[in-house]
Amino acid sequence: MNCPKCKNKALEPFENDGVEFDFCADGCLGVWCDHGELKHYVETINDLPGKVNSLSQAVQTLFKCPKECSNNLVELPYIKGKEILLDYCPSCHGLWFDFKELGKVESLAINIDKVGKLERTMERLRQRGFKVMGSS
Ligand SMILES: [Zn+2]
Ligand SMILES: [Zn+2]
Repeated sequence: MNCPKCKNKALEPFENDGVEFDFCADGCLGVWCDHGELKHYVETINDLPGKVNSLSQAVQTLFKCPKECSNNLVELPYIKGKEILLDYCPSCHGLWFDFKELGKVESLAINIDKVGKLERTMERLRQRGFKVMGSS
């Protein structure tokens, strides 16, 4: 998988806090997050806290998704009205962070829709098909 911005640089996988990111180690130092990785990392309920609002401000870019979908990424705000713009793939829902954007998102995420570690674990169990007692 190649960097969407540098194109000829391969992204290197690395793990941090149980989340595997892909990192443009040899180029722009940008980071790719697959769908669902960001929310685990910053402990929010969704990758994009106000997804519908963010999508309403999406602008097409010339950068291609690094995954097989190779769609054009769209640029959208992490939170509507905030200055942090991310690149997002409408097809696989992956997100691209330019250098230092991930840190800015982390500090924004502290104040929004934060869920605890227990909730995250429960959510992961549910995604694996774990049946909570009493649910059908
Ligand atoms: Zn790069
Ligand atoms: Zn994609």
